[in-house]
Amino acid sequence: MAKHAGVARHAWNWGLATCQEIYESGGKRPTAIDLHKKLVAEVKSANPWYYEVSKCAPQEALRNLDKAFKRVWKVKGTGFPKFKKKNVNDSFYLEGSIRISGDWIKLPKIGWVRSHEELPPVEPKNVTISKRAGDWHISFKIDVTPEGTSKTRDRIGVDIGINTLATMSDGTTHPNPKAYRRAKRKLAKLQKELSRRQKGGKNREKTKLKLAKAHKRIADVRADSLHKLTTYLAKNHGEVRIENLNVSGMLKNHKLAGAIADGGFYEFRRQLEYKCDWYGSKLTLIDQWYPSSQICSNCGHQQKMPLSKRTYECPNCGISIDRDLNASINLECAESFDRASLVVDRSQKIQARK
Ligand SMILES: [Zn+2]
Repeated sequence: MAKHAGVARHAWNWGLATCQEIYESGGKRPTAIDLHKKLVAEVKSANPWYYEVSKCAPQEALRNLDKAFKRVWKVKGTGFPKFKKKNVNDSFYLEGSIRISGDWIKLPKIGWVRSHEELPPVEPKNVTISKRAGDWHISFKIDVTPEGTSKTRDRIGVDIGINTLATMSDGTTHPNPKAYRRAKRKLAKLQKELSRRQKGGKNREKTKLKLAKAHKRIADVRADSLHKLTTYLAKNHGEVRIENLNVSGMLKNHKLAGAIADGGFYEFRRQLEYKCDWYGSKLTLIDQWYPSSQICSNCGHQQKMPLSKRTYECPNCGISIDRDLNASINLECAESFDRASLVVDRSQKIQARK
């Protein structure tokens, strides 16, 4: 696999250098097909190790290079393609006869490889294999026919937080996984260790890999937990209601400052969007100015709720309820929410500040 990734990287870098030369001499950039012909004629014969790997690897690398060039003109803010370094985002592509049996997968040129987990019983046409923090990952597309599921509840409000990943209006919570906290502690330890290691030393490289693994572990644990939550919500509820947070709104909301850093909220909404579609439920985004944490979910009284207050204590009806649970119930019931009254409220605030 390392050989395949190496050839893919070599082909990309060769293709990029070739295109640069042509550009500099005033020529037109060759197509991916022409570039591949040139590669076969000039590069392969000079580098016999190209024959040790599947021809798909260099071919797809050149196709990706072509796409990267096209993106420069199409998508604003995209930089010119860069040369690839060894051990940084190593990956390659394979197609052909691919078979799956349990947790084994048969790849062209490589043979049977065992995966860490059970694979779906399908026959992928192609796969992309990449290396992250020392581990190889395989990804492929499969066709899924979405099916509606029977719902246990018509509607649910979900409040997203930091300490608890989500609080639901039915009184349940989805906590941050323990493994996440453990991994975070380990990460902090390794960061300290790295700062003590000598630059250029062998041990520094070792610690660096450990650190990369810890980062990956955190990302994986988070992703897994988020997927479980969004699948559960979309599968079991007729309507899922969440706050519609945009970046400026989130930056003002300190509770979510950490969540933005982790990119958690966008991913949460993105997953809910497609999963609700899959399982035949509805996703409703509640206006971000709706004061879900300030309103009493029992009587409708509204009061200021500083972040330090974890319990909503209503002076009007006397209820005492967890802050996040109160917010999630409000999100579920945000029917009578009148946006106009809020606009007035906000303008008053602005005037008061002046
Ligand atoms: Zn009340």
